[in-house]
Amino acid sequence: APQATLDLIRSHSQYQLNTYIRPPILFTRGSKCNLYDSVSREYLDFSAGIAVTALGHSDPGVTAVIVDQASKLSHLSNVYWNEWAGALAKSIVDLTTLHGGLGLKSIETTSSTNQDAEPKVGAQVFFSNTGTEANEGALKFARKYGKQIGGETKTGIVCFSNAFHGRTMGAISCTPNPKYQKPFEPLIPGVRVGEYNDMDEERMKVLIDDSVCGVIVEPIQGEGGVGTGKVEWLEMLGKRCRQVGAVLIYDEIQCGLFRTGEMWAHSSYPEDAQPDIITMAKPLANGFPIGAILVRSNIAESITTGSHGTTFGGQPLATRIGHYVLSRLSDPSFITSINTTAQHLDDHLSRLPRLFPHLVSEIRGRGLIRGIAFKDEKMPGEVVRMARERGVLFLTAGKDTVRLVPALIVSEEECDRAIGVLESCLALL
Ligand code: PLP
Repeated sequence: APQATLDLIRSHSQYQLNTYIRPPILFTRGSKCNLYDSVSREYLDFSAGIAVTALGHSDPGVTAVIVDQASKLSHLSNVYWNEWAGALAKSIVDLTTLHGGLGLKSIETTSSTNQDAEPKVGAQVFFSNTGTEANEGALKFARKYGKQIGGETKTGIVCFSNAFHGRTMGAISCTPNPKYQKPFEPLIPGVRVGEYNDMDEERMKVLIDDSVCGVIVEPIQGEGGVGTGKVEWLEMLGKRCRQVGAVLIYDEIQCGLFRTGEMWAHSSYPEDAQPDIITMAKPLANGFPIGAILVRSNIAESITTGSHGTTFGGQPLATRIGHYVLSRLSDPSFITSINTTAQHLDDHLSRLPRLFPHLVSEIRGRGLIRGIAFKDEKMPGEVVRMARERGVLFLTAGKDTVRLVPALIVSEEECDRAIGVLESCLALL
């Protein structure tokens, strides 16, 4: 980077808390899958702001919606109704019903006895501003529902190894990584940790007993290394949750909203593997801060007036952007193109363990959330650094993984370029 940029970064680092290690690059502009630094060097972005900018950087349609809504009404607070929060909530519920998810397909959506009755809506939405906040809300809802059905002691929460659910107190308590937890102990009480994908039925019975009110899990883990939950395991989990009356929460903050080529990572999973609550955030407004908790009606009934709240969540600006972004993401031709590109990327990725057997142990994930697992834990950081020097941005995940979460608009040609650079880096190692 030029001296002026380095000086600026040095100055800024004195004023910002240094909670992140950042390379000495100052990005000033983005377009589609490209980012440009202070000297207009172009980078191909396979990180998308950590799985956020699904429609790419500076999408003109998103920009137009922001400008229009900002000029009309940005913020109101939840003391009043606004046009867009309800419209986005309806889109989330309708699309989840259409695409599968939350078991909504199997829920009766219309009243058969009274034709004049309002259609019965299968789920309700609460808006937050971030992913971690969506998870906090989901944990609170599980506790409230649990106490209602099981009394004051039904408060236990179960999470799993390698999970990442965010950085607030409840979320880190469900993120069993000493690096995130230790300095901030004591954590919230009542959290137990199980082994992700552990198919042992006896252990699951002990882990999820009658005192458990909620189980939180990522169907595909993002930060933890792109591990994928086995469908049979998630079915077992769902069945056990229903046996003991525990709320099953799927954190689809990173893997959801069409990143797998389906609306939810669990869209096509069997009924037993369907959750009671879905949390979402990252791509919902293409980078404008928003999160949401989608709650099946039987649980939502226990969340009464005053149970939860937020100043910013559900404001008209964020929810209108979300409404627009969701309409673009759910366009059938867009979904088809995600799947075509994902297949093309997969053709490249699946060759890597054969091409570099001494380096690459396995390929993880599906759709456009992919992980390349390395045999040597020092490799992922090194590969990300080398690729960045060659103009391509990847992320690490877990201890051993390079993560690819490009914008969902990424082209086959961009996948070719990114993998080309990746392979040239691996050839040097
Ligand atoms: N849950 C998952 C699965 C995530 O990947 C993340 C962020 O990386 C979060 C929760 C936290 O979201 P946020 O950073 O918006 O609070």
